[in-house]
Amino acid sequence: MYDGAMSRTGSGPVSANGASAAGPPPSPVGRDDLDARRQDIVTVGQRLYAKGLIAAGDGNISARLDGDAHGSRPGTAPAWLVTASGTHKGFLVADDVLEVDRAGRPREPRGGRRPSSEWSLHEACYSERPDCGAVVHAHPPTTIALALAGISLEDPVLSEAALVLGSVPVAPYVTPTTAAVGETLRPFVRRANAVILAHHGALCLGRTLEEAWRRMETLEHTALVIWRARTLGAVPVLPAAEVARLRALAERLGP
Ligand SMILES: [Zn+2]
Repeated sequence: MYDGAMSRTGSGPVSANGASAAGPPPSPVGRDDLDARRQDIVTVGQRLYAKGLIAAGDGNISARLDGDAHGSRPGTAPAWLVTASGTHKGFLVADDVLEVDRAGRPREPRGGRRPSSEWSLHEACYSERPDCGAVVHAHPPTTIALALAGISLEDPVLSEAALVLGSVPVAPYVTPTTAAVGETLRPFVRRANAVILAHHGALCLGRTLEEAWRRMETLEHTALVIWRARTLGAVPVLPAAEVARLRALAERLGP
């Protein structure tokens, strides 16, 4: 069963750093409702564009198909949905969302479309995080600008960010679309729900697609607040004890 339907209304805060997320892995995208799951990805693409988090061919979105990502369903091979390469994610149609295997190979013809050239980024998340049900990669401008200026988002400044995102590290630059992207990301996604890709963009993991999207929105919103605050003066961080309290709260609240 998939609990990340776009109509879901829960606030969805989660463990601050999902590498130690409590509880069982999520039940992500159900294979019995692929068309609806494709449409959910289309919707997230529209949201990313509406919020100014992507431009032109930027970004890509994926979701794990229920039950078989780790071969747990006898007789089925692991599979995911991912956006097609070169598409504008703000104007996707359902046919632009392809079913792929772990190597990123399409499992069906969809008008000659090719899966995202950045599949290695997604695969690293699913390999390193059994709790990961979806990945949203975008190019959020304020987040990228802060990283370019050397301003860290690792320090906890906002309570909501501490709850929803946890610490946000910056992974070193590697040429986009190469396999090195995934390899570079592995140690970062192991310990973080949101990672900035230096000179490139950001990615957010979620137990559901809705959760991954919300983390991306929170990431850029947090960057925007920090940017504005820094134009006005010094930005204090939350006390360590309060951060620990927030992370415990996130664990209790669950997905
Ligand atoms: Zn990118």
